[in-house]
Amino acid sequence: MIHRNVDAVVIGGGSAGLAAALALRTAGTTVAIVEREPFLGGILLQCIHSGFGLHEFRQDLTGPEYAARFVGPVREAGIEVFLNTTVMEIGEEPTGRSVIALSQNQGVVRFATRAVVLAMGCRERNRGNVAIAGTRPAGVLTAGLAQRLVNIEGCIPGRRVVIVGSGDIGLIMARRLTLVGCDVLAVVEIQPYPSGSARNIVQCLNDYSIPLHLGHVVTRIEGRDRVEAVRIAPLSDGRADAGKERRIECDTVLLSVGLIPENELSRAAGVPIDEGSSGPHVDADLMTGAPGIFACGNVLHVHDLVDYVTEEARRCGERAAAWLSGARKDAMLPVVPGANVRYVVPNACAAGRKNVFYLRALVVKNDALLDVRVGGRQARSQKLSHVQPSEMIRFSLEPDAVPERPAGEEAVVEVSIR
Ligand SMILES: Cc1cc2nc3c(=O)[nH]c(=O)nc-3n(C[C@H](O)[C@H](O)[C@H](O)COP(=O)(O)OP(=O)(O)OC[C@H]3O[C@@H](n4cnc5c(N)ncnc54)[C@H](O)[C@@H]3O)c2cc1C
Repeated sequence: MIHRNVDAVVIGGGSAGLAAALALRTAGTTVAIVEREPFLGGILLQCIHSGFGLHEFRQDLTGPEYAARFVGPVREAGIEVFLNTTVMEIGEEPTGRSVIALSQNQGVVRFATRAVVLAMGCRERNRGNVAIAGTRPAGVLTAGLAQRLVNIEGCIPGRRVVIVGSGDIGLIMARRLTLVGCDVLAVVEIQPYPSGSARNIVQCLNDYSIPLHLGHVVTRIEGRDRVEAVRIAPLSDGRADAGKERRIECDTVLLSVGLIPENELSRAAGVPIDEGSSGPHVDADLMTGAPGIFACGNVLHVHDLVDYVTEEARRCGERAAAWLSGARKDAMLPVVPGANVRYVVPNACAAGRKNVFYLRALVVKNDALLDVRVGGRQARSQKLSHVQPSEMIRFSLEPDAVPERPAGEEAVVEVSIR
């Protein structure tokens, strides 16, 4: 067994882990990144399309180009990186935390540390998470897996494709598979509105004349060994309208039906989870309910833009470094989702400093109003031309918006969309 003693262990070497580790190292702490894959970069490595870095670098980069902007500095900063190494357990010790990992080349690695940053990203919902009737043939896979097969392994998973769900990964794969010569016959979305961004609807579907069937469900997958067809039907009063069902012959079904923050490790370490975001409950320093364990990136909540992952992760690394150096905890107020809001991250707001928040709406609405109240008094009111659950909303509160002693013991920050 290998033993390592470091101030902080970052679990996951995607965009969140890289930015958090760099911030920790810049503040003078010793850091190790533990990554289960053979490369740093995470999901970015399979996203060979452009659209990354518009906020962070004011440039339109591909996923691998964006990752490279962080991997080089991580190597130069002397951050120890363990690749092909999977964290199995986070333990509690009298002196801090232990992290137990399994390395393909080195066996068991045991870290003694004082801080842990969770940056494990998220995973895709699969056929087991959605109820689709029919047989269980080959040719049903998630859109992210298809993306990895095409962009990294160089394999095309099928020829005639139907995509279930209109999340961004599915939309991007509709275009990608068209470009490699597949027929993408339909994208089928149960909601009356798309789950992916408006930009991807235009650039990935409309530009390639790929039909999007909103308010439709896949009623059945057919095929013995390999997928042969799917049946789809429009929803009427919340049920599939059997009279309007039709059959689409295809050999492949891609599922793009949502992402789930990867928190099995967090739960086992006793980290409380927020039901709205499915990620850890965090304070304004992005520290979870387990002292010394911080979280950022898609493990905390599913982000739409990598630039916001970097912003959040950098702040996480900075706050973790401050905590390691014994900084006093600022006074914090709980943050709660109000009307039409699914979740707000973080779950607490620090008095007397700038706070940045990310949230997701529960509704689709034009001309909406973001309404933020601190202890019942309006602290921010912002017009939003359009909101929908698939598009993350970011806002900030200036230091004077959250007083040290807000009125009333029950004072909370409540965020609503009206
Ligand atoms: C298809 C697709 C298209 C996208 N398009 C855009 C776009 O156009 N523009 C944009 O800005 N953003 C886009 N994004 C979003 C952005 O890429 C992600 O939000 C961001 O990269 C997530 O970073 P992360 O570090 O949180 O997670 P990840 O990149 O998933 O990194 C998590 C890492 O943790 C590792 N890990 C997990 N568990 C363990 C463990 N137990 N031990 C060790 N390692 C572990 C994983 O192997 C992985 O490398 C897209 C995302 C996808 C999937």
